[in-house]
Order: sequence, then structure tokens, then C-alpha cells
Amino acid sequence: MLAERAARVRSRMADVGVDVLLLSVGPDLPYLTGYEAMPLERLTMLVLPRDGEATLVVPGLEAPRVTERPDVFGLRPWGETEDPIGIVASLVGPAASVAIGDHTWARFVLDLQGALPAARFSKASLVTGPLRAVKDDAEVEALRRAALAVDRIAAELQAGEIPLVGCSEADVSADLGRRIVAEGHQHVNFAIVAAGANAASPHHEAGHRVIERGDVVLCDFGGTMLDDEGVGYCSDITRCVHVGEPPAELAEAYAVLYEAQRAAVAAAVVGTPCEQVDAAARRVIAEAGYGDRFMHRTGHGIGVEEHEDPYIVAGNATSLEPGHAFSIEPGIYIPGRFGLRLEDIVVAADKGPDELNLADHGLAVVDA
Ligand code: ZN
Ligand code: ZN
Ligand code: ZN
Repeated sequence: MLAERAARVRSRMADVGVDVLLLSVGPDLPYLTGYEAMPLERLTMLVLPRDGEATLVVPGLEAPRVTERPDVFGLRPWGETEDPIGIVASLVGPAASVAIGDHTWARFVLDLQGALPAARFSKASLVTGPLRAVKDDAEVEALRRAALAVDRIAAELQAGEIPLVGCSEADVSADLGRRIVAEGHQHVNFAIVAAGANAASPHHEAGHRVIERGDVVLCDFGGTMLDDEGVGYCSDITRCVHVGEPPAELAEAYAVLYEAQRAAVAAAVVGTPCEQVDAAARRVIAEAGYGDRFMHRTGHGIGVEEHEDPYIVAGNATSLEPGHAFSIEPGIYIPGRFGLRLEDIVVAADKGPDELNLADHGLAVVDA
């Protein structure tokens, strides 16, 4: 599968006129090699020429971590006194057009530009973006495994099995993180826990606020799970629970949110522009009078990166294709009172929207 992926990348390099692809930290490298670069001052870089063999230039002390894939790349470990920029530059040779990973540190980009004065640099996403946005069947299954893992945690939350009352948001966030790993993820990407009025801030950082009876608790969490080739795929889910019976105002807002989220999922059919999926959620929320309380886009693509193309947002006229995987996560945020969000990952498919998350979509009432 990785070898086929490299072939697709090379054919797109030909289409867009890129001679060499250079990948370091960030999601493109694991997407192509199953290896994730350490974010270090010692350079790791895949040099992938359009014609010719790819080489992974890696610090010697990191080389034992690399699972060798001779069908995809050769390995060039470098010793402590060698110059990795010079090694990469000599592998690039006289190439005119170089595409470099979007997340590559400026210190390496600038040094490489100095070492390759004749080369024209562009972003690697020019090559990899459209390929990564459309998932093949194996990628969809990898995303589904990750989604089902966080669904199990959501079900524990909804069943009242995760202690809330008397715990701080940070305690619950740490608990979610342990469960994310216990459910088979390689690492935790985030675990937002926001209680009561804190939930009105969409990306609230879990803090010392202690959860009490009468609080709504918004939990938005996800991690990265490895597939059999060592490529990591992300999960991302949001569920809200209420400690004790919710007040009418909150229950009514949740009913609107639920309807909006379901409408956007139903709208996520192949051929529909992303902006219309966003509009489907926004219309329901606006008609109920909460239009200005939903101030973020409806969703983001997801894959080896937590947020990637396609974005489900006004102004994105890209039509959904089979294999596009993305979140549908409308929210209603009432400053000083409460916030609500409901998020699933959905894949556009010929049969209709393929919902990866199946955890109950209601506002669960818990008593502890
Ligand atoms: Zn977010
Ligand atoms: Zn999320
Ligand atoms: Zn999300």
C-alpha cells in the first residue's frame, strides 16, 4: 500500500511539475513511509525524486526506530559530525523544482535554500494535499477503528462511568487521555473538558474548575491510532453530558443542535459542495434564533492530520468526493451560561454518508 501511495505521489509530482519532494516533521512523512520524524534539531528528511529512488536521511541515533521499507525508501543514517543539509542537497542534485513539507522548521528550509540556490521551492501540500484528502478503503477502515475506540469512551461518559462531580476539568481530561491510549491509540491528540459556562469557549483549555451538579460537561477528545503499516489516523468526537436534569433553556438548545448536526450529516452526500453541508447545520441553528451563537465552521477534514482538507465552511465550493473524511461539529455557545457541541466523523461515500461515530447523540444525564 505504501509503495502504491508513493507511485500516486510521483504521478502527481509530474502533473504539477515538481522534481523532488522533501519531507520532515509533519504528517506527510508518516503518510508515505510509516515513520514519524522526531521534532529535533537533528534533521530527518525524506528525499523523494520524481524519477529515482527515495532516501530517508535520518540521525544515526534515530535509525533503530525506522521500520525499513526497501520498496519505498533507502536509509541514509548520518553521524554526529556529518552535515545533513549537505547530504540532502547532494541527493537533490540539480533539481529545479523542490516541494518541501509544510511543517518543516524554518531553520532547515532556510539552510536548504542556501545550499540549493538554483532550486524553486514550493509547499509539499501542493502534491500531497489532494491525495491525502481522498481516503482509500483501508484508510476509511483505519479511521473507523479509531472512531469506534473513542465511541466506547463516549459511551462510558454517557453511562456515568467516568467520575465528574468533584473532579476538576483537568482531572477528567487526564482520565479521558488514559482511556484514549487504553483503547488502542498510539497517542492522545487532545482532550477538551469544559464545564458549565466554560463550555461557551469552543477550545477551552481544561483547568482547575471543579465540576458540580447542574453543570453541562462538554468533552471533545481524540488521538492517533496506527494502522498495520505504522501510519497514524486520527479520531475526534464531542459529546456533552449534564450532571442532573438540564434546565429547559439548555435542553431546548441541545434539541436544536441535535437537529442541526443530523441535518448536516444527511447533507454530506457525494457531489454536494462543502459549503452546503455547513449551511445545512447553520440554517437549523439560525432558524431557532441561535445564529450568532454558532461562530465556527461546521467541520474539518481528518486523516493522518487532525485538521486537513476538506474544510466544511462557507466559501468552500469543493464538492464532496467518495473518500472525503471530515467532522460535522456544529455548536451553540451562550457566553456566561453554557456551551454545547456535537461532533462525529463522516465519510462521503457512493452509498450515502458513512457515519464512523455511532455513540448516542443525545444529551446524556448523569448523576455523578
Ligand atoms: Zn476544534
Ligand atoms: Zn473535536
Ligand atoms: Zn473536530
